[in-house]
Amino acid sequence: MTTRLPVENPATLAHVGEAPSFDRVMLDAAVTSARAALPGWSATPFDARGEILQAMADAVDKIAEDVAALLTAEQGKPIAEARREVSRVGQWFRGTATLDAPAIRRDRGDGRICETRYLPLGVVAAIAPWNYPLLLAAFKLAPALLAGNVVILKPSPYTPLSTLVVFEAVQAFLPPGVLTVATGDDALGPWLTSHPGIDKVSFTGSTATGRRVMAAAAPTLKRVTLELGGNDAAIVLDDADLDAIAGPLFWSAFRNAGQVCVATKRLYVQRRLYRPLVEAMIEKARAVTLGDGADPAVLMGPTNNAAQQARVNGLIDDAKARGARVETGGNDCSLPGYFVQPSIVTDIDEDARIVQEEQFGPVLPILPFDDVDDAIERANRTDFALGASIWSSDVGRARRIAGRMIAGGVWVNESGALSPTVPFGGLRQSGVGVEGGEEGLLGYMQLQTLT
Ligand code: NAD
Repeated sequence: MTTRLPVENPATLAHVGEAPSFDRVMLDAAVTSARAALPGWSATPFDARGEILQAMADAVDKIAEDVAALLTAEQGKPIAEARREVSRVGQWFRGTATLDAPAIRRDRGDGRICETRYLPLGVVAAIAPWNYPLLLAAFKLAPALLAGNVVILKPSPYTPLSTLVVFEAVQAFLPPGVLTVATGDDALGPWLTSHPGIDKVSFTGSTATGRRVMAAAAPTLKRVTLELGGNDAAIVLDDADLDAIAGPLFWSAFRNAGQVCVATKRLYVQRRLYRPLVEAMIEKARAVTLGDGADPAVLMGPTNNAAQQARVNGLIDDAKARGARVETGGNDCSLPGYFVQPSIVTDIDEDARIVQEEQFGPVLPILPFDDVDDAIERANRTDFALGASIWSSDVGRARRIAGRMIAGGVWVNESGALSPTVPFGGLRQSGVGVEGGEEGLLGYMQLQTLT
C-alpha cells in the first residue's frame, strides 16, 4: 500500500490533506514513462509546444480560486497573495511561450558553413521549495516543456497539494508521461538527483541543499540549475523620499512573512534618514494584522513550518544575546500556528547571525551608514549574491551604485520584480545558471553544431 504524506496548515495546525508518497518503484516507473514520452514530445514543433503552454495558462486561470484557497491552507500566505501567485503561474506560461531558441549560421571562411542549434536535454527533474510552490515550479516547467524536455516535478513535502491540483489540471494538455508530479518525503529528492534516467536537475531551495544536489548530480554529470538562498541588502541613500519608499521597502522585506528568496534581508540606511526610516518601519510592522491567511483582513501569515519558525526565533534570540534592540515584534508570539511577529532589529553588529545569515522570515535588521562606499563594501561582504536594491530620489546616482553591487539582480526603488522574459540567477553561493528569458530557456537545451 502506498504511504501517504500528511500536510498541515501552518496557521491553525489543522490537517489539510494527504499526498501520495513516492517510493523508489513509483519513481522508476515515472522515469520510464518520461523516457518513453520524450521522443514524441521533443519532436512536437516548438511553436506547437508554445501553444500548449498558452492553453495550460488558461486552464490554471479557470481553477485559480480553489487553488488559491488550498495554497493558503498549506503554505500560510494571505489569500490575496495566494491569488497573485496563481495568476503569476499563468503569466509565466504565457510569457515563456513568447521566447525562441536561436539557430545561428556561421560561415567559417574555409568553405564550411556551420549551423548551431539547440536541442532538448531529455528528462528534467524540477525540485521546488515551499515558499512559492506553484510559481517556482512554473519557472522550471514552462521553459523545460517549451524546450522539448519531459519533466518530473517534485514539490516540497510541506506544500504538495496545490501543486498536485494545478499540474494535474495542465496534464490534460500533454501526452502521457510528459509531466509527472512526484510527491514524497525527504528521501525522494536524493533519489531524483542521483537517478541515472534523469538528465538535468533544476533546483530551487537553500544553499545547503543546493550543494547536496550538485554532489549527487556529479557521478552521472547531470546538468544543474541551482536557484539558492540570498541575503539581499537594500541601501537607502539620504536623498530618498521617505514617504514614497517606506511602504514598498517594508513589503520588500515582509511579503510572504519574509519567505522570499529576493526579500530585503538587511537594510542599510544613510545616517540622516536612519531614525526616521526605522520609525516608519516600526509603524508599518505594528499595523500588520497577523493571522490565518484565509481571513481576507490578514496581511501576514505564519512561517511555513516548525523548523523555520524555530530558526527565525533562534536568530532573534542570538541578536538579543548580543545586545541588539528588538524595536517591535520579537519571538514570543502567542498565536497557535508557526507565527513570528514582524520584527525590526537595530543596534546590531555587522557580524551578528541575523545580518550574516539568511533569516527567511519576518525579521529585518536595520543598520546605519555614513559613507556610501562603506555601505557597498558591507553589503557585498557575503558569500550570497542573489539580489540587491538601491533607494534614492536621484535615479542616476542610484544606478551608478547599483552597478557596484555584487548580486545577480539589482533593482532601483523597488526590489525583487522578476519576469519570464528576463534572465535572473544568483552569483557566488546563491546559485548556478539562470531562470527566465532566452538565457533561462537555453539552460534546458543542449547545443549542437552541424558543419
Ligand atoms: P530546501 O533546500 O530545504 O528544499 C527545497 C526542495 O529540495 C524541497 O522540495 C525539498 O524537499 C528538496 N530537498 C531537500 N533535500 C534534498 C536533497 N538532498 N536532494 C534533493 N532535493 C532535496 O529549501 P526550502 O526550505 O524549501 O526553501 C527555502 C530556501 O529556498 C531559502 O534558502 C530560499 O532563499 C531558497 N529560495 C531560492 C530561490 C531562488 O530563486 N534563488 C527562490 C525561492 C527560495
